[in-house]
Amino acid sequence: MGAQAKSPEAFDLTQASWGEVRQHDLYHMAILPWGATEPHNGHLPYCTDMILSRAIACEVAAAVQKEGLHVMVLPGIPLGSQNPGQTSLPFCLHTSQATQYAILQDIVSSLERCGVQRLLIINGHGGNSFKGMIRDLAVQKPDFMIVESDWYAFIPRKDYFEEQVDDHAGEQETSVMMHYHPQWAKMEYATDGAARTFAIEGLRTKAGWLPRDWSRISADTGVGNPLKASAEKGARYARAVVDALSRLVTDLCTKNIYP
Ligand SMILES: [Zn+2]
Repeated sequence: MGAQAKSPEAFDLTQASWGEVRQHDLYHMAILPWGATEPHNGHLPYCTDMILSRAIACEVAAAVQKEGLHVMVLPGIPLGSQNPGQTSLPFCLHTSQATQYAILQDIVSSLERCGVQRLLIINGHGGNSFKGMIRDLAVQKPDFMIVESDWYAFIPRKDYFEEQVDDHAGEQETSVMMHYHPQWAKMEYATDGAARTFAIEGLRTKAGWLPRDWSRISADTGVGNPLKASAEKGARYARAVVDALSRLVTDLCTKNIYP
């Protein structure tokens, strides 16, 4: 086969070939989906947080491509920081901050070598915390921009979902999985995600913080009820997230950050 027209698939590095990638001399930005590997109640995949971040990232890249921007979605990182109690469950993979920072530094260096100076991390795991790493890199590499987004957290959930307590494998995450990958929401294994909180008031009010012992707060690893989830709710919420992140990426690639 000879040279092909520019491929619309060339924004997803998991499936893109070099033959497609090299047709674009410039990529304006990279998106890094970041998740975790851990039980999600009985019904969602261990890699849910990476899978959903990746699905959203690919839709964002496709949307901005229509506006002439080339954004590459990097392979998702399925390695997250885990709470005590989760870590005792089979195949729950805990990754230290030092490991995550080393991965991020190597990715930033690799992007710099190919002339990409902007990175959006789309994070799907509440236990991950990138702000300190991003501050360090902002000091070390002032010409490289890293923006982080917790996709599940910046649009008010109450406008889309019924459940108010919904931290992990509940109505929100299950609905979004039903939208993108319905075959991976194995509802026959789902239970109600009932969760307890701390006995100490100052921990409940967040006067002080410590990581929750997951085995003490949840019997099924879930925090939030997945039984009210639906693909329709997930589609509506994912649309709002993708629209907002597409605007953000477009602005980051085309506008000055400060007035
Ligand atoms: Zn999750």
